[in-house]
Amino acid sequence: MNEARPLLDVRHLSVDIARGPRSLRVVDDVSLQVQRGEAVGLVGESGSGKSMTAFALLQLFPSPLARVSGGQVLLEGRDLLRMDAAQLRAVRGARLGMVFQDPSSFLDPLMPVGRQIAETLAAHGQTEGSRARVLELIDLMELPGAAQVALKYPHELSGGMRQRILIAAALAMKPALLVADEPTTALDVTVQAGILKLLTRLRKELDLGVLLITHDLAVIAETCQQVHVMYAGQIVESNAVEPLFARPSHPYTQGLLRSVLSPRSRARDLFSIPGGAVHAGHWPAGCRFHPRCPVMRLGLCDTAAPVLVSSGAGVDRCHLSGAPEAIHAWG
Ligand code: SF4
Repeated sequence: MNEARPLLDVRHLSVDIARGPRSLRVVDDVSLQVQRGEAVGLVGESGSGKSMTAFALLQLFPSPLARVSGGQVLLEGRDLLRMDAAQLRAVRGARLGMVFQDPSSFLDPLMPVGRQIAETLAAHGQTEGSRARVLELIDLMELPGAAQVALKYPHELSGGMRQRILIAAALAMKPALLVADEPTTALDVTVQAGILKLLTRLRKELDLGVLLITHDLAVIAETCQQVHVMYAGQIVESNAVEPLFARPSHPYTQGLLRSVLSPRSRARDLFSIPGGAVHAGHWPAGCRFHPRCPVMRLGLCDTAAPVLVSSGAGVDRCHLSGAPEAIHAWG
């Protein structure tokens, strides 16, 4: 019906964590969209709120003290935050699959992996033909000898193979959107490259929307078309991947880019952003990045909170957006 409607449309999402009589805002007014067949990255340091954003999509918080305090999460036009428990159960796995960092934590060590994929199908009432579907899925994950692999226990597989099994389970019901939270962080570099290639192939072949949560800009560069940079619970810069890597606008994004491995020289740049990430919910006044920012202006950056403004093809959250000192924040 509506061709222009995004697959996922997150609008002004906020998440609070209860701390005694107070509550701390850990995700603050986050908006983003994912189209069918598109991979969108959400990148930031640990504690920036990116994983909490992912958990909020299906209200699968690791802590009972966390709750969505505002916004909308529209998946195929339906607001997940207005659904009751039964409706959410029907959507989880069927329309939205999730993959997490450590496959060992999500696989039952006492059950063959094929049966674990079949359980996902059974949970959605699909038992007929499930063995054939399990083998098809293992095959889709580029794991040779699907029938043998299905009989293995998780400890008999490598970390990369276990992650492929988790992706197979997440895609068992042919969801439209895959949310992957640090899917390669626990893996070594060569295995990581294989998983990222697999995700790209699956996205194209299945017209899958992918929301990829990571602390690693290099992973975004390999995999995504759009990127949102999070700092202290807020999006501070959004753009298509190419312009963001070529011309990062926000001083934090520029610092992140300088601190990753240079793909051209393969030499490690020892730069790191001074200071530590602030504790979730305990944000400084004014611009939340001002204690670490090399170009902050006293009387402005430490008092007034910047809003997202257009910057070239993207948006960024900086009072000095576009000014020469902000464009070359780190010299
Ligand atoms: S608003 Fe000020 S402190 Fe914040 S990033 Fe921009 S220049 Fe730095």
